Amino acid sequence: MLRHLLCCALALARPLAAQSELAAARGLVHAVPGALPTAIGYLNVAEDSWLLSQAVKDAEQTKVPSPTSVFQVRFAHGWIMVDAAMDREIAATANDTSGFHDDRYARAVAALRGAGLIVVTHEHYDHIGTVTHSAAADELAPRTMLTRAQMASLLHNPGATRIPFDSTRAGRYIVFDYDRVLPIAPGVVLIKAPGHTPGSQVVYVKLASGREVILSGDVAWHRVGIETERGKPDSATRHEDRAAIAGELAWLHQAERTGVTVVVSHDGDQLDTLARQGILSKGLVARP
Ligand SMILES: [Zn+2]
Repeated sequence: MLRHLLCCALALARPLAAQSELAAARGLVHAVPGALPTAIGYLNVAEDSWLLSQAVKDAEQTKVPSPTSVFQVRFAHGWIMVDAAMDREIAATANDTSGFHDDRYARAVAALRGAGLIVVTHEHYDHIGTVTHSAAADELAPRTMLTRAQMASLLHNPGATRIPFDSTRAGRYIVFDYDRVLPIAPGVVLIKAPGHTPGSQVVYVKLASGREVILSGDVAWHRVGIETERGKPDSATRHEDRAAIAGELAWLHQAERTGVTVVVSHDGDQLDTLARQGILSKGLVARP
């Protein structure tokens, strides 16, 4: 009976807690004074593909694109980058690099160089590589915000991040921490979402147009995962906190039902569709 009651209490608590995360982010849209961002651009530095069943548990064996993307939250006078991808050298240690585009990577690095701030959704090589191990890393570090959990993974769990990291470089970054939500710019609020990695977070963006977007990193690997609230296949979740992911899928799905666009980093079809709909902007700009 007690177990039954606990179960119900947890079932009730999950959507409530979730909703409050989004509500908290919405309440902080104007916490940092200034004009809201005007657009979100993205660029796929690498274009790969896999089976949907590799991205979402029990999904069909349909081939779907799985790009490595970076995002640019644009303001009237500058931009913030969300995720940084990785250079060819790091890509080669994890993947075959036939889908890696050197010209696009150069554009991504230029946008990272021009960014006022850089944040990463989590500490895996395909999101953090360029700011931690590349020719541009030292230059980018002073404007790169890494959470304490992200830094801890870099320092103590290089097997998980798949990036060699020199601990003497740790002090060059903006290392910070927060419990649930943190506004970092007008209309931009970080929301903690540990699960895929200990340092995972999602980025809530309210655009000047009124549109709300959440850059959700790798909470799901395809939008079907959000829609069905199904996690990744078991083989991919050995290092994940599955209960935490389940809660995040539930609240992101709920957010989507209230009109928020939840962007999934590695879902190439979704990125294309959002670009066609004018919700995201394909490509990066080099000046505001
Ligand atoms: Zn990833």
